[in-house]
Formats: sequence, C-alpha cells, structure tokens
Amino acid sequence: MDSIEYDVVVVGAGPVGGFLAQRMSEGGASVLILEEHAQIGRPFQCAGLVNPEAMSLVGLESTVLTPIWGARIHSPSGIPVVIGNEQDIRTWSVCRKLFDEGVVRGAMQSGAEIWLSSKPLSADDYDDHVLLSVSTPQGNQTVRCKLLCGADGAHSWVRRQFKLGRPKELMIGFQVEVTGYKGESGRLDMYTGSRFSPGFFAWAIPSGETTRIGTWSKPEMMGEKSCEELLDRLRSEPLWKDRFSECREIGRFCGPIPSGMVKRPMRGRVALFGDAAGLCKPTTGGGIGPGFRQVELQVPNLLECLNRDDFSDTAVNEVISLLSPLRREQNRARALRDAFLTEMTDEELDDVFTVWSRPEVTDLINQIGDIEHPIPLGIRMLKDVPEFRSIAKRAAKAVLWG
Ligand SMILES: Cc1cc2nc3c(=O)[nH]c(=O)nc-3n(C[C@H](O)[C@H](O)[C@H](O)COP(=O)(O)OP(=O)(O)OC[C@H]3O[C@@H](n4cnc5c(N)ncnc54)[C@H](O)[C@@H]3O)c2cc1C
Repeated sequence: MDSIEYDVVVVGAGPVGGFLAQRMSEGGASVLILEEHAQIGRPFQCAGLVNPEAMSLVGLESTVLTPIWGARIHSPSGIPVVIGNEQDIRTWSVCRKLFDEGVVRGAMQSGAEIWLSSKPLSADDYDDHVLLSVSTPQGNQTVRCKLLCGADGAHSWVRRQFKLGRPKELMIGFQVEVTGYKGESGRLDMYTGSRFSPGFFAWAIPSGETTRIGTWSKPEMMGEKSCEELLDRLRSEPLWKDRFSECREIGRFCGPIPSGMVKRPMRGRVALFGDAAGLCKPTTGGGIGPGFRQVELQVPNLLECLNRDDFSDTAVNEVISLLSPLRREQNRARALRDAFLTEMTDEELDDVFTVWSRPEVTDLINQIGDIEHPIPLGIRMLKDVPEFRSIAKRAAKAVLWG
C-alpha cells in the first residue's frame, strides 16, 4: 500500500499534542495528529487548572469557568491557612473539553491535519524515517514521517513501543464533580491528612456552577484503600463534613499522574511530550503547564533538526539537554514536597501549619507563594523560619540543587 508522508506525526490530541502540532505547523512542518478517540477532550481526567503562563500561550480565556485567586489550606487536625486576594488571579479553572478542543483547533488552523478514531498499530524507526501502520475508520493506512512524537498520555504507546523508560513516580488521582459544595467562589480548598490523602492532599476546586473534589496519592501509600474510600473519608470527616452535606455528584474521574521525566525523552526520530514524558508537577500534579513549556523549549531545535534532516546522537542530545532546567525543577520540587508533605506524619504536618498560620509567615506565603512555582517559597521557609531548620536537613537535596 502507498504510504502517506508527513514531516511530523503526533500521537495524541490532548492539550500537549495539540499545542505541539500547532507550533510545528507554524514552523512550516507538515503535521498529522492521530487521536484514538472519536472526539477531542473526552474522556478527561483533570481538575481543570491551567496556569496563567500556559493560558497566555493559547489564549483560551473563553474556556475559563472560575478565576482562582486564593486558597484555604487545612492541616490534618483542621488548622486553616487562608491565602490570596481577589485582585491577584493565581490560576484558571477551565472546562477541560472546551480547552482541549480550542488547543487542537489552533493546531488545525495552523495547518495540521487530524485523524480521529485512529491509532498506530506498529511503528519502526529507520535512519531516515519512521514508518507507521495506522488503524483508521477507513482501514489500515501506512504513514511515513521524519519525526514521530508521542503525546499520548501517561500510558504512552509510543514510550512503550520504543522502550523509552518510565516516569519516576506514578500517582493516582480520583475526583468527583458535584453541585452544592459549600466553598468560596475563587478560593480553592486543600485538605491534608493521611486518612484521605496519604502523603499528598485532597482538593475542592470551584469550576463555575460545580466543584471538583478529588484526592491523589501513590498506590504504595494507600494500603488496602481504594481512591473512592479515601474520598468518602474526606467527605465524612467531622471537621468539615458540613461543607459536603448538600453535594450531589454529577460525574467521576480517575487517572494516573506521571511525574519525573523519563531518562531519554528522545531517541533518534522518536520524541515524547507531556504526560508521556513524565512531566507532571510533583507538587500539584499539573501537567498542562510543564507540557506547554516543553514544547516551547524544544520545538525551535526540532524544526532545525527537520530542516537539516539531522537526528544524529549529537543533535538529539542537544534537544534533550534543553529539558535540563525542567528536570532540575522537578527534582527540587519533589524534594521539597517530600520534606514538607509526603514524608511527614499528621502530627508533624499540624506543627508546620501552626507555624504557617502565624501572621508573618502567612504574609510571606502571600508575598512569594505560588502554587505553580513553590520552590522559592519552600527554600525561603527553610532558610528564614527557625522552626523549619530540622526539615531543611530532609530537604537537603532541594537546597543543594539550588
Ligand atoms: C484527577 C486528575 C486531576 C488533574 N488535574 C490537573 C490540573 O488541574 N491541571 C493540570 O495541568 N493537569 C492536571 N492533571 C494532569 C493532566 O490531566 C495531564 O497532565 C494532561 O492532560 C496531559 O496532557 P497530555 O496532552 O500530555 O496527555 P493527555 O491529556 O492524556 O492526552 C493524550 C491523548 O492521547 C490520546 N491517545 C492515547 N494513546 C493513544 C494512541 N495509542 N493512539 C492515538 N491516540 C492516543 C488520548 O486519547 C488523549 O487524547 C490531572 C490529572 C488527574 C488524573
């Protein structure tokens, strides 16, 4: 069968695949996106937070359901720390389906093509091309490209097919969408405690007329408990069960959160992007922002590789090295998260919240705290708050990597 040729094939029409396809097309490459589902943005597993940096790259403010400007964070025994002010929007809560559709529309407007209900059956890389057999609604099709990009999510087929390693950590997130949660518009709630979010936190995020309530953890920290049981525990916790008393569930979502970039996110003519590469933030689980950053960092060089048709080890190593800052940031953020959250007992966490709730420390959090960029605040706390000196030892890696 004759093969169809493109410069780039992107597997996966999620937000990262869509944005990658847009940037590649804008740079003059012919791009085909393969999406195994019949529509964009379904199913999705996401709390729907998109940071301002990522939003400004795609200009999809029309998909915003609620601007998020503050947070109420709770210790295991209920000590609250309340931060934020209405004038300072920290992040956006979006309709994820509309957001994904908008990103993919941007790619198509830049010239990318998309095949829905289509997925690769096999892929072989050669010196000068990659050859794919693709299952499509019209039958199998052979596609030849110069560069194959896997933006096909946490369980990436491309990553497994080309044995490109595994993300360091795989968390699991579970979320219900409800009406009737008693929260504050524009302020998200975060709850810590080993009973319902061992090593991590649970959340309630305003999203227009509904609220997304979820929890995440590592399977190995959950004991025998299922995610549903953990979330039920959060909702029946005497400290705040009243907030959940009128909730009516309208949807539930569960999914993996891969964090810790794979060792080699590119080999020869095959590259990984977004969740496929393990880019989610260890501190929040957010994957859209880091995925977009990866695209911005790598696409100019990848376009040069395409123009020169140079995918030699030297050229590829150069493209990979562009991700060093992202990798370093992930490692530092994980070390801070471990020190301040994941490796703490509930009692230790309560002690931390007691310090955080002191007015001068809450002020510091308000000044330099940023859920998207927690490293500066974390380091400053370790250095400036005497009570945190003992934690500094545990977080040595985060400090040293500074
Ligand atoms: C409970 C939960 C809450 C989250 N909350 C947030 C949040 O608030 N903010 C945030 O930024 N991130 C959040 N995340 C993470 C976020 O959902 C991902 O990081 C983000 O979707 C990654 O985008 P992506 O394009 O890399 O992959 P995906 O969104 O997973 O897209 C991959 C695409 O590839 C397609 N695909 C997969 N395999 C194939 C194949 N073989 N052939 C063809 N197509 C294929 C899929 O159908 C999908 O469309 C959350 C995750 C979970 C589980």
